[in-house]
Amino acid sequence: MSSERKEELAENLRKVKDRIADAASDSGRKIDEITLVVVTKTFPVSDTQILHELGERNFGENRNEEGLAKKELVDPHAIWHFQGQIQSKKIRHITQWANVIHSLDSVDHAQKFAHAENVKDLKFFLQVNLEPSRDDRGGVSIARLPDFLDEVAALGSINIIGFMSVAPLGVDPKEAFQEVAKAKNLAQKNYPSITQLSMGMSGDFEEAIKCGATHIRIGSSILGSRPAQA
Ligand SMILES: *Cc1c(COP(=O)(O)O)cnc(C)c1O
Repeated sequence: MSSERKEELAENLRKVKDRIADAASDSGRKIDEITLVVVTKTFPVSDTQILHELGERNFGENRNEEGLAKKELVDPHAIWHFQGQIQSKKIRHITQWANVIHSLDSVDHAQKFAHAENVKDLKFFLQVNLEPSRDDRGGVSIARLPDFLDEVAALGSINIIGFMSVAPLGVDPKEAFQEVAKAKNLAQKNYPSITQLSMGMSGDFEEAIKCGATHIRIGSSILGSRPAQA
């Protein structure tokens, strides 16, 4: 394992954590309200291992084979976050390694998760789409949220803990995140378990923290840039 890579990752991690601390203190929030999910997707197991040695315990992945392999090789007891688009036929596989699903956006998928043996151990974020004209990136529109929540709640076993969103391109991320936070506060009135906000990536996590994010998903600021298709 390269000690140069370890130094590089440690340095990047330290910088990101300093920025998280600054954004939290600027907005009067406590740092322990914010979970850093290190998005290790596409990076080798060795990088995930290094980040684990550096103390990280929340990892984000979006491919089954990769998520399962890293969980087994790095730490089955760490918290593994799935945040890619869900495909029906992969759901059973996702439940074999992921602890937290950030991208639930279909009642049909929720039904399939509800049949998983370990559904009680899974936590779900509902993905909110702020760009209804573009559904190719996944997510439930703000307008459909109330019905969606009722339909998923009727299944009984799906534990939705909050909302996840990706700020659309060309929109001020602050406005986007405020809209998601507002939708969360509204939903929480009917569904008190909805308390968490997964929002903020390398380019906009400080804004997200200021808008109440509880989970920020950071890849490239810690690991470096990924190949374009990932
Ligand atoms: C890849 C990905 C991230 C991490 O993005 P960076 O810009 O590298 O920090 C976060 N969230 C989702 C949904 C992703 O697909």
